[in-house]
Amino acid sequence: MNVPKNSDTSSPLLLIANWKMNPQTAADAKRLLEITKRSLGNARSYKVVLAPPSVFMRELTKTYRGKKISFAAQNIHWDIAGSHTGEVSAVQVRDAGASYTLVGHAERRAAGESIEDVRRKMALASSAGLIPVLCIGEKERKPDGEYLRIIAEQLITGVEDVPRGKLKEVIVAYEPVWAIGGKEAMKPEDMHGMAIYIRKVLGRVHGRVGLQIPILYGGSIDDKSAPAMLSEGDVDGLLVGRASLDGRSFSLLLEALRRARV
Ligand code: PEP
Repeated sequence: MNVPKNSDTSSPLLLIANWKMNPQTAADAKRLLEITKRSLGNARSYKVVLAPPSVFMRELTKTYRGKKISFAAQNIHWDIAGSHTGEVSAVQVRDAGASYTLVGHAERRAAGESIEDVRRKMALASSAGLIPVLCIGEKERKPDGEYLRIIAEQLITGVEDVPRGKLKEVIVAYEPVWAIGGKEAMKPEDMHGMAIYIRKVLGRVHGRVGLQIPILYGGSIDDKSAPAMLSEGDVDGLLVGRASLDGRSFSLLLEALRRARV
């Protein structure tokens, strides 16, 4: 998959909705899917990927018959199968209907996921036929610029073992940890700078194919901050958490995207 740059307004933006450990019942998950479906209307300017808890995956993918919504796992294990109590494999989520998976989300890294785990998960996701969304982001920003080294390390290690032929399917979601779950999103002009930096690192290591990897922004995006981020942030889409958890805020966000792109 190749999601072209946001400057090309004819290409769809990618909007990934990370439901995290919500909602609490399958009935509520189906309701949220219904609202998303209705709010999408016949928008052609963006594509939605829902990342529900894996326990709801099969039921949701069975319910949905359209083409505009795809599904992502929030996490997979780095091993293909075996003795990993409580874990879910790439093949299992794919079998349940997911075509994407988040890898290395900040909340998983905070729970102990190492950069090596992320490297293995990215490689496994790719070879299992999932589109991996590599989540990267620094915990804090200091004037010494150390965060740039952290981002480069997360990027380079994250895609290191992805087979060359699968690199063009990788998506990078830049989510500064200090903006996730916060009060406001990063400034679009700062994101623009990060997008240039991310592309520079990927281009240096992987050449042309690295330069084409789509870049999303995530962290406190809502219907108010999304339009400016899309027009000024040099991104190919967004990863949203809280704004995707209730039907009303997600509909408002979709509406804002539609207005911004039409
Ligand atoms: C996230 O968890 O990836 C995220 C972006 O959350 P929020 O939108 O709530 O900051």
